[in-house]
Amino acid sequence: MESISFKDLAGKVCVITGGSGVICRALAEGLASVGVKIALLDIDKEKAEKVASEIANDYGATVIGVYGNVLDREALEAAKSEINAKLGPISLLINGAGGNSPLATTKVEQIDESNVAAPEDTFFGLDPAGFDKVFALNFKGTVLPSMILTRDMLDRKKGAIVNISSMNSYRPLTKIPAYSGAKAAINNFTQWLAVHFAKTGIRVNAIAPGFFITDQNRFLVLDKETGGYSPRGNKIVSNTPMGKFGEPQDLQGATLFLLSDVAAFITGIVIPVDGGFSAYSGV
Ligand code: NAD
Repeated sequence: MESISFKDLAGKVCVITGGSGVICRALAEGLASVGVKIALLDIDKEKAEKVASEIANDYGATVIGVYGNVLDREALEAAKSEINAKLGPISLLINGAGGNSPLATTKVEQIDESNVAAPEDTFFGLDPAGFDKVFALNFKGTVLPSMILTRDMLDRKKGAIVNISSMNSYRPLTKIPAYSGAKAAINNFTQWLAVHFAKTGIRVNAIAPGFFITDQNRFLVLDKETGGYSPRGNKIVSNTPMGKFGEPQDLQGATLFLLSDVAAFITGIVIPVDGGFSAYSGV
C-alpha cells in the first residue's frame, strides 16, 4: 500500500472563487505546490490574472485568472466553459468569495446607558440592504458555484468542495450580525449538500478560519493612526490561546487534507483553524 500523501491532487483542476483575495491566494499557493491546476475565479479579472501569473511563476504551476461573479449564473456558466477549454474538467472547488460590509456592522458592541440615545450606532441604525449584500455574497455566493461548477464532478462520480466559514458561525461576533448569520448558514449548507451529494462521489466540507488580518477586516482590527491593534484587535489576540493572528498559509494544511483522497470518508464537517479560539472560554 502507498504511504499517505497529497499526490492524488496532482494534475486535478481546482476552481477557487474569490481566488485573488488574501486567503484564497494562500490556498492557491498550497495547491500549486502539489501540482494542482488552478483557476482563480474573481469579479476582479485583472487582479485574478496578475495573481495567477505570479503563482504560476513562483511554483512552475498551471494557474489562470478567470472573470466570474458568484452571484451571476450566466457569468459562472461562461467561466466554466473557459476553464474546461483551458484546463479540462473541474475536480475540486473552493468557495472562497465572501466578506462583511460596513453597512451591516454596528458601531458599538452593546446597547448601554452611554449610547441608548444614539440608535444610529446600534442595531437600530443598520441598513437592511447590508444584510442582503452580505447574505448574497457569502451564502448564495456559495450555493450558486456549487450548482454550476460541480457538473464535471457529477459526470465523473468524484469531486470535493471546500467552503469557507468562520469562527463567527459557531457563536456570533459582536457588531457583525449579518456576516455571522451568513457564515452559520454556510455550515448548515455544508452539511446539507454533503448529505445530498453523499452517493455521488462528491464530498463537501468547510474550514472555519479564526482571525487573519485581511482587506475586509483591517478597518476593525487595526488602529488607522498607530498601525497597532485596535481595542477589538487586542481582544481577539487575548482570546486566541496562541496569542496572535493567523497567517493565511496556516489554512493550507486543512484545505489540502479536505480536498485530497486522504479524507475520502470525510464529508459534512467544518474544521476550525483558529489558534485555539473556539476551545477557549476566555477564563
Ligand atoms: P478578500 O476580501 O481578500 O478576497 C475576497 C475576494 O473575493 C476578492 O478578490 C474579491 O474581488 C472577490 N469577490 C468579491 N465579490 C465577488 C463576487 N461576487 N464574485 C467573485 N468574486 C468576488 O477576502 P479574504 O479576507 O481573503 O476572505 C476569503 C474568505 O475567507 C471569505 O469567505 C471570508 O469571509 C473568509 N474569512 C476571512 C477571515 C479573515 O480573517 N479575513 C476569517 C474567516 C473567514
